[in-house]
Amino acid sequence: MLMYEILNKKKHGQELTTSEIRWVVDGFTSGEIPAYQMSALLMAVCLKGMTTRETADLTMAMADSGDIMDLSCLGDKTIDKHSTGGVGDKTTLIVGPIIAAIGLPVAKMSGRGLGHTGGTIDKLQSIPGFRTEMTTEEFLDNVKKHGLCIAGQSGNLVPADKKIYALRDVTATVDSIPLIAASIMSKKIAAGAGHILLDVKTGNGAFMKDLRDARALAEAMVNIGNGCGRKTAAIITDMSAPLGRAIGNNLEVKEVIRVLSDCRHSAQDLLEVSVAIAANMLYMVDYAGLAACEAKVMEVLENGAALDKFAEMVEAQGGDRSYIENPDKFEVAKYTRQVCSSSGGYIGSIDTEGLGIAAMILGAGRKTPEDEVCYSSGIVLTSTIGSYVEKGQIIALLYTNDKNSLLEAEHKFIESIKLTPTMPQTVPLIHDKIGL
Ligand code: URA
Repeated sequence: MLMYEILNKKKHGQELTTSEIRWVVDGFTSGEIPAYQMSALLMAVCLKGMTTRETADLTMAMADSGDIMDLSCLGDKTIDKHSTGGVGDKTTLIVGPIIAAIGLPVAKMSGRGLGHTGGTIDKLQSIPGFRTEMTTEEFLDNVKKHGLCIAGQSGNLVPADKKIYALRDVTATVDSIPLIAASIMSKKIAAGAGHILLDVKTGNGAFMKDLRDARALAEAMVNIGNGCGRKTAAIITDMSAPLGRAIGNNLEVKEVIRVLSDCRHSAQDLLEVSVAIAANMLYMVDYAGLAACEAKVMEVLENGAALDKFAEMVEAQGGDRSYIENPDKFEVAKYTRQVCSSSGGYIGSIDTEGLGIAAMILGAGRKTPEDEVCYSSGIVLTSTIGSYVEKGQIIALLYTNDKNSLLEAEHKFIESIKLTPTMPQTVPLIHDKIGL
């Protein structure tokens, strides 16, 4: 096969064959196809798209580029969740313990954050001692013993995605539905669960800014998953404001502990989305009807079983359990700044990505994959969309260990919040469901 001919085909919008797609993925992963030719193909895919069949072939070729986890030792009710990424999205840390407390195995591989969205692994590593790197045997053993383990993606899972994603990142080819769908689904398929619930975010803090695109991405991923024999469904949730009040690693873990220990007095948007995800996961494995699944989720939140499961997982993975029992022990950043409202009014809109960037400036996120994150940096909102604030009222607290970042982060924060004289219309948190 000739890469030149494949490029020419895609340039003219023609469909690539299964063997051509596999040849390209294998060749690029092994280094035989150079980055300049792969870049050209990625751009052609961005401009001309891929059919459902091509996208499924790309997904499977990528999944097969490395190891595929075998979770059969955990039974036939393994279920995974995936979020397409948002600001303040800490739902995995709430949903995982809920599902495990109900008795279903949670074997979850998660990623580190990059850019304005945070990563589950960074959040967990903010708990002193917590280990996210382990062998496959240790990972499965933990799930068998404790019902739950959340680990970093193992080295040889979907190497094709690591190489292709790095290239997309620098060639302006990230925002293509077939490429995003294949990237996400190849990792979900390689992670081994028989059931997959996708939380596709939409809004100004999400990859998919509008609902139509979010639906298209969700449908593409659901089709791929079901086509590969994994029962797959999606819910489309709102990301036009941060989820919950905390943005930044240990600040988010503290918010998770609050939801797990006192859900009625925690951020209700975060609770609603977490309950919806957990209940739909149970529903997908035929646990019960949806209303009964929701009731069960609330039961393990309110009786403390989900919090106990979280503490058990932390201890099993080397973390200091006393931080979960007493969250005041978490390190507090050296510098704090109160952000006050410059006038009275309703918080009418939030540039969510802007808040994610403000948190990154404070040290909570990475600009490049090599950056270190600061676990105690970030933002806690004291008001959110729809709140009425008086002139001079504190609307947020900024935390950082880098004093020089405070001014720039405050500027970005203020720029991202728009006040309005009237209350904004409320936006639903759950926009749609696909395949449920
Ligand atoms: N998340 C992924 O894992 N891949 C993408 O392409 C986009 C978001």
